[in-house]
Amino acid sequence: MHYLDNIKIVLVETSHTGNMGSAARAMKTMGLTNLCLVNPIIKPDSQSISLAAGASDIIKNAHICSSLTQAIADCNLVIGTSARSRSLQWPNLTPKVCADKIVQQALNSKVALVFGRERVGLTNDELQKCDYHVSIPANPDYSSLNLAMSVQVLCYEIRMSMLNTQDLTSNSIEVAEVDFPTNADIERFYQHLQQTLLNTGFINANHPGQVMGRLRRLFTRAHVEQQELNILRGILTSIDKKL
Ligand code: SAH
Repeated sequence: MHYLDNIKIVLVETSHTGNMGSAARAMKTMGLTNLCLVNPIIKPDSQSISLAAGASDIIKNAHICSSLTQAIADCNLVIGTSARSRSLQWPNLTPKVCADKIVQQALNSKVALVFGRERVGLTNDELQKCDYHVSIPANPDYSSLNLAMSVQVLCYEIRMSMLNTQDLTSNSIEVAEVDFPTNADIERFYQHLQQTLLNTGFINANHPGQVMGRLRRLFTRAHVEQQELNILRGILTSIDKKL
């Protein structure tokens, strides 16, 4: 298995099967194989197969998930794509830096790169499940690329980064061995944090405001390690016991 197989391309609620096929072709030309479809509006059909051309195996092997949470549960790094910035600013990467991070992480764990709906992209909730956002720095007056074309551009950067890394690793540069939690672990932490903050009264259930979004951004920025997450869970449990 090649480590590029650790990289999942996730398409959320795609409406056009042609885009699925073109995305599959874009992936395969760049050496990526792992496609995940979250709630596709129409299941892959003959149009997706014909636009995939020689990449129909990627469509046939695609995983279909019912939610983004499920699609990224086993991933240690999740990056969301967006054509424009949203209400709550999030750590934003250029396509090249995004590709470097993805390739480094994929050497020893699973990674997801998440693409949105043709019309409306990703929701704020979905974007807040991501560690980073990436935007292709397109024409500010017309910044929204076709879905499959944005898959092509970002997968091209991943390929360039992989080729660079090959040069580096053949010069035997070591990869740091730190354990990072999966997205599912982090989601459980946020649920626990929110529950504890509701119990202490810090968050008012009727007026929760942006507190959880800002806390997610804080912990995302810190790129919390597994051991650190264990400490945070322990702190919450100690508060729960006192309450
Ligand atoms: N109006 C939507 C556009 C969706 S385009 C929005 O503002 O998000 C469909 C998908 O293509 C996006 O969700 C994203 O995954 C990808 N995409 C399009 N243009 C992009 C860009 N400039 N940078 C990164 N991803 C882009």
